[in-house]
Amino acid sequence: MEYQNSAEFAQQLDEQDALNSFRQQFLIPQHAGKDAIYLCGNSLGLQPKATQQYIAHQLSNWQNLAVEGWFQGDDPWLQYHKQMLQPLANIVGAQPAEVTIMNSLTVNLHLLMVSFYQPTPKRYKILMEGGAFPSDQYAMESQVRFHGFDPKDAIVEVFPRDGESTLRTADIVSKIIEHADELALVLFSGINYYTGQLFDLQVIAQTGHAAGAFVGFDLAHAAGNVPLELNAWGADFACWCSYKYMNSGPGGISGIFVHEKHHQNRKLNRFAGWWGYRNDTRFKMAPGFEPEAGAEGWQVSTSPILLMAAHKAALQIFEEAGSIPALRAKSLKLTAYLQYLIEEINGQHGDELFKIITPKNQQERGCQLSIICKENGKATFDYLASRGVIGDWREPNVIRLSPVPLYNTFTDVYTAARHLAESVRA
Ligand SMILES: *Cc1c(COP(=O)(O)O)cnc(C)c1O
Repeated sequence: MEYQNSAEFAQQLDEQDALNSFRQQFLIPQHAGKDAIYLCGNSLGLQPKATQQYIAHQLSNWQNLAVEGWFQGDDPWLQYHKQMLQPLANIVGAQPAEVTIMNSLTVNLHLLMVSFYQPTPKRYKILMEGGAFPSDQYAMESQVRFHGFDPKDAIVEVFPRDGESTLRTADIVSKIIEHADELALVLFSGINYYTGQLFDLQVIAQTGHAAGAFVGFDLAHAAGNVPLELNAWGADFACWCSYKYMNSGPGGISGIFVHEKHHQNRKLNRFAGWWGYRNDTRFKMAPGFEPEAGAEGWQVSTSPILLMAAHKAALQIFEEAGSIPALRAKSLKLTAYLQYLIEEINGQHGDELFKIITPKNQQERGCQLSIICKENGKATFDYLASRGVIGDWREPNVIRLSPVPLYNTFTDVYTAARHLAESVRA
């Protein structure tokens, strides 16, 4: 597609955008009396207008039904999460029985590692991307230590080559093969939070399995952002948060995926709780844990209904929009437009003032572009903020901007880039 650097052109794209009206379903933060340019959906997605009603509805069920709300009313809480399994399965490419919602992300990563990180003296290593999100690094280190191993020895990281910012799939593959006999687990993010690189999860799953390891994915930056086929790729497990691209609110409930091939596998350890017990006999409260079939068998604690209500409001919008295929089509254009406009600024200055480290290949990224500022990075970021452009800042010199297809417009992208250009002159 041929892009143009003008407000009229951006407006034309907005007029042609089939998803344009979805912006009306969100509350946009205000800056100086106008809508802010919110390009931070990779960190905290915006609030759907319907969220208040969804939560208020459950507050009123609680008010009117009290404990009977678990079994009665228009939305009995015992079943409440089940309505979200199909929409979620659509988003991550799974069977509904392979997904459920529970806890928060890092907690779920730990719970799933109880099942899928079962090291032996010979096979005890975890392979992951270098520069993974800190919480994942801490989770891996503490899991390894918990099993009596030394993280320095047991955690194998894959780093970009000298002078490069992102990983080559071939290097991931050869690292897995190099450690094949020692790997218990290959744990990768779907999209690296810092660079915005989308990994080839299918190849990672195949290679990890050929090495004899389990393969799991942290999809915090991928779920609700890019197409995923967890079932077809054969991933053993995955988890994600819902407050980034899925707009379910700060600290919102997290999701998990456990592949159907493991649903009858009794050799997997798990940390059990009553909410993972067989649905039909849970309230007999008998001794001896019997899991519900599927991902729900990994649930531990009572459903947090108010968090689930916020999640339900947000997932409803994904369904209405046509889920990921429709969103991805627009997202590719939005992010490509942002890339084009940033390259225009560099071109005008005859210098790479803003170096995009996110892959240029659209198949290797989602919404986000990570931009290294050659100079005055923090001042540039602060200038954008003072003009109502909300991105986020990552030390030492990276600005992340993520136009998202549900509520960002091409005009948002154009205006953000115009302020970025002005920041150079200022
Ligand atoms: C956002 C993010 C987290 C955050 O985990 P919480 O448990 O929700 O605080 C963890 N891992 C990755 C890769 C993330 O992007």
